[in-house]
Amino acid sequence: MDFYLHDDPRLPMAWAPWFSHEYIAYFAGQAVDRLMSLPQAAVKPNPHISDQNWPSGPKHVDVYKEDYREVSHLDPLWSFCYAERNGKFALEPPLDKTIEPWKVLVIYSTEPDLNPDCDLDLHKNQKITGGSHGWRHMQFRLLGRTFGMAPESFRLHINFAQSAFESGNDYWGWRYLSRGSHYLADLGNPFHVKALPGWLLMKKVFSSRELFNIVSAVHQSYEVYVERRFREGFPAFQYALLQGARSGQDDLDLQTGLSAYIKQAEKRHNTIFNFFLDQFGRELVDVFAQLDQNSHLDVADQTNMCSADAARVLFKETNLSKLDFLDRITSEILFDVGRMLGRLFHSFSLPQKRRS
Ligand SMILES: [Zn+2]
Repeated sequence: MDFYLHDDPRLPMAWAPWFSHEYIAYFAGQAVDRLMSLPQAAVKPNPHISDQNWPSGPKHVDVYKEDYREVSHLDPLWSFCYAERNGKFALEPPLDKTIEPWKVLVIYSTEPDLNPDCDLDLHKNQKITGGSHGWRHMQFRLLGRTFGMAPESFRLHINFAQSAFESGNDYWGWRYLSRGSHYLADLGNPFHVKALPGWLLMKKVFSSRELFNIVSAVHQSYEVYVERRFREGFPAFQYALLQGARSGQDDLDLQTGLSAYIKQAEKRHNTIFNFFLDQFGRELVDVFAQLDQNSHLDVADQTNMCSADAARVLFKETNLSKLDFLDRITSEILFDVGRMLGRLFHSFSLPQKRRS
């Protein structure tokens, strides 16, 4: 079977439109035979394993996509809000339903970008990552200090998953694992492990607000580009993830591999950053000009509003030939991401990992 997530007949239209994290989890999962052949898991209530050391944002609610009703048909190319899907979903666990573990890994992988990490008071320096959401999804060094905690977000979720499996709640084991895989994928993204190139910081002509806008514009533009490629069914990304996930399954130690993986992503940051500024410059930065670091809105919400305009710039007819460079470097990134996720999914597909 060889599908692109959005035309896989095993998945209802209610769950679409699909986002980058879901494409990543999907292709990484498809490459892991052991995962794909696991029996369905019965939906269970949230065991709240994470509550003690991982508070959820005040607006977070668990939705259960296993129980869905199709209500709309959104245009995937112009959908930028993770919360808006074709379906309405249950807020109470549908205890009569079962679901394949690989589907759980796909459909809950965007959850950490919704509300669970927003509007929290995590650290006095969290403004530099755009708020608590960024704090949990990034980690970079700047002027000798470390900002953000993404590796810890990943590790904690692996522990939550393990505990859920040990207590016999496989369904939530997979859901925690899906959330954990989100942070792992984020760590392969250059913009989550490095804030800005040194040269930009040295150019003191920029105000901090201007600097913040440039950095946000380039970061979000890159996310918009990747997502659009997935939604177009770009074969190189599918291939990179499948190959990566296949190669990672047996030979990789996740914990020792993690720091090399992060370093590799960090190394790719400057070239992508400079590419965006050289090729698109002002035109893109202007799209994000209304961003306000002091707004009551989370930066993630603010940047989403600018995404459609960024897509119009990036995928303008006259700009298309510029994207070759991004296609190549992103395929390398996705190979590495696939490798880590393939390893993670494979290890949890072994029976001994899920039972204590
Ligand atoms: Zn994220």
